[in-house]
Amino acid sequence: MLSRSRERLKPVLAFRRTPGNYNSLPSLVGALERAGLDSRIELRLAGSPAEVRGPDAVLAYSFTTPALGQVAEELSGLKGRAERPVLIAGGAHPSADPEGCAALGFDLVVVGEGECALVDFVRDWLSAGTPQRPQIRRGAAQDLDSSLHVAERAGLFPFVEISRGCDRQCAFCQTPPLFGRMRHRSPETVAAGVRVAVRAGKRRFRFLSPDAFAYGGAGAGARLDALGELLERCRAAGARQLMLGSFPSEVRPDSVEPALLELVRARCDNRSVVVGAQAGSDALLGRMRRGHTAALARRAVELCLEAGLNPLVDVLFGFPSETPDERASTLDLVRWVLSHRRAAVHAHYYIPLPGTRAWPDAPAPLEPKLRAALAGLQANDRLEGDWQEQIALGRQILDWRERGLIRV
Ligand code: SF4
Repeated sequence: MLSRSRERLKPVLAFRRTPGNYNSLPSLVGALERAGLDSRIELRLAGSPAEVRGPDAVLAYSFTTPALGQVAEELSGLKGRAERPVLIAGGAHPSADPEGCAALGFDLVVVGEGECALVDFVRDWLSAGTPQRPQIRRGAAQDLDSSLHVAERAGLFPFVEISRGCDRQCAFCQTPPLFGRMRHRSPETVAAGVRVAVRAGKRRFRFLSPDAFAYGGAGAGARLDALGELLERCRAAGARQLMLGSFPSEVRPDSVEPALLELVRARCDNRSVVVGAQAGSDALLGRMRRGHTAALARRAVELCLEAGLNPLVDVLFGFPSETPDERASTLDLVRWVLSHRRAAVHAHYYIPLPGTRAWPDAPAPLEPKLRAALAGLQANDRLEGDWQEQIALGRQILDWRERGLIRV
């Protein structure tokens, strides 16, 4: 009786849902749908590991470094349990520290993009009848244009990912080591995904890109054409609201062009554009490997204002090796931005992340005077950001390394 009921049941693959993996899970589930594997397994989203039991079930985590503490705690709670599922890990943190994740208790760690590796794992699992457990597997880069951004059968409609990867090498960023070179979904493929989401009742779409104004490749003319076509096709597919150049598709200062801003002003619904300025000192920008100057960031802010858009400017304090004078230059930049009535600032504090060029250097501490200045600006609502929480998070991450939770 028990074995018959087992035969009727499909094997379970559950994804641990966390606030940080809103966008990665639909990509993974979508890959299983395209491979026709979603009908052969029971796919679930798990709010806690207790919802997935049995050595024939698989529980998958996709997570970033800030989530490591919670993940480690959950894995330690599963240790030694007879009902423990097979545990697999992927995402930015496991890709940067696969050995550390294997030591936490994961049976399989995927390095790089997860879609192809997950499909291979599930195929092997179904043909072997039990999950296979190589410890570390390298995931091949996903051909972005061969897939929609949605997982339709599972009813998952994340942000509209138009580009993945980045050709820059900013020293604090995990995107280039995780995703490699930048590539794009074509306007046709993006619009096909939007059409599916519209059929499911969605009307409002935010694009996702490491640099929205880089869409379409090299040359401002090519980008203008590609973005124009993208917006037109998405409207034709039924989108009522389109948001480009604001979260989560910020723009780099050196990508900002008047014609691109005009396109956003005329054809999109956001009135804010997020510009990644990061620092007010060229020497510091050079050590960050940003590939642009502070003057170019100021020009981007002015162009946004001239186009009738509201710049929201990202700045970063505490990069390792940052000097007090360089911090003061960034504070000057902040004050200059805020001298424009329609502009605002998003302040960040440097978070050390494994896999980046700056890892594992410690953040530069902020003087009490600078902290007070930032807190004062924040109190008047024109400066936002979790910089104070990020100071604590940076310390926590380096402490995890000291304790051996991170092994790189
Ligand atoms: S910060 Fe932005 S531009 Fe720099 S490497 Fe990361 S994604 Fe690319």
